[in-house]
Amino acid sequence: MAVVGPGSPSALHQANLARVLAAVSGAHDGLTQAEIGRQTGLSAASVTNLVRQLATSGEVAVTWELRAGRRSRVVTPTPAHRFVIGLDLGRTHIRGGVATLDHRLLAQQYRPMETEPSVSDTLAKCADLMAVLLHQASLTRTDIAAMVVGVPGPLDSASGEIGAGAVLPELSGIHLERRFSEALDFPVVVENDANLGALGEFTWATAAGPAAPQVYVRLSTGIGCGIVIDGSRLWRGASGTAGELGHISLDPSGRLCRCGNRGCLETTASTPALLENLSEAMERPVTLPEWLAMATRGQSASVRLLEEMGRHVGAAIASLVNLINPAVVVIGGPVTASGDLLLAPVKQAIIQRSMPSPGAVVKVRLPRHPDLSELHGALALAATHAPPGFNT
Ligand SMILES: [Zn+2]
Repeated sequence: MAVVGPGSPSALHQANLARVLAAVSGAHDGLTQAEIGRQTGLSAASVTNLVRQLATSGEVAVTWELRAGRRSRVVTPTPAHRFVIGLDLGRTHIRGGVATLDHRLLAQQYRPMETEPSVSDTLAKCADLMAVLLHQASLTRTDIAAMVVGVPGPLDSASGEIGAGAVLPELSGIHLERRFSEALDFPVVVENDANLGALGEFTWATAAGPAAPQVYVRLSTGIGCGIVIDGSRLWRGASGTAGELGHISLDPSGRLCRCGNRGCLETTASTPALLENLSEAMERPVTLPEWLAMATRGQSASVRLLEEMGRHVGAAIASLVNLINPAVVVIGGPVTASGDLLLAPVKQAIIQRSMPSPGAVVKVRLPRHPDLSELHGALALAATHAPPGFNT
């Protein structure tokens, strides 16, 4: 599979396509190619090539019209509903984006969140972000085919709720799709963030993956995992909550977990658990960026805690490897900015603690776009919810 780096010719080409599409989308009676050139700063030859490609993929229509006394090629956006919105809701942030159905990101926004906001605060922030994204991409609500919001908690498919003891307790006990749809005045699909991370990693702007399971593990305030099977389908389980890796009990007499069980992986390997441990050792509050910075400088307690985290997470993943024999395991979440300091002990624990055959085939790696996996997944899932006839 070709890897597209941010500075590669292919990434630049994709960015230029998005610029042309954003310019055209903002002008509902169309733009001449010269106007597109002026708005985007691209050369006439580039605009011609990019417009030809967008017309071939059905994203714009090109007609000859009389404009300012001259016959000009006018580029107009194709009918509405060709775009999707995704929001990724975390404990400390909301990230949002607008994309085309074929996975081209047109606009992106990030907002930090204060801890433990009320439901109405969260919904108001999401509504505001939606408006800003539409404005940034020069679109209206009628251009949007579908919208997906990711939440950090196991989502029960029957009740539509995230369970008690979830990372965002203020969102538990309510039918999330209904509340979001009412507040945003738009039909919203809600999905677990680790599931979205898996879709983002394995189905966003990438070639079809293997038929064997691919797993995305998200290490954060909670520890979740999303499982993609048959190349592109989420494996949700009987009630939608498959992949709660953080609540695998590794020590029956260990610490009490917020789920009510004892010795869950989260009690020893979630970032709050480890930061509490490090803060005690340092005799002052330590934040995640500080921890990672100290570890990068080689501070021994910080490095040791990353190794411990990696060993615990790797032990839990080894059980998963034995159970479902995945082809790929991607380790995501903010703590993976530490790179090999975390990834190496994870890999080592998987090799040591899984059976030789599945342990030998599984590829363990970091995400392709570390901060964007969940957002990409929200947009990829939204594209699959677009009305029939609009899928590319
Ligand atoms: Zn638990």
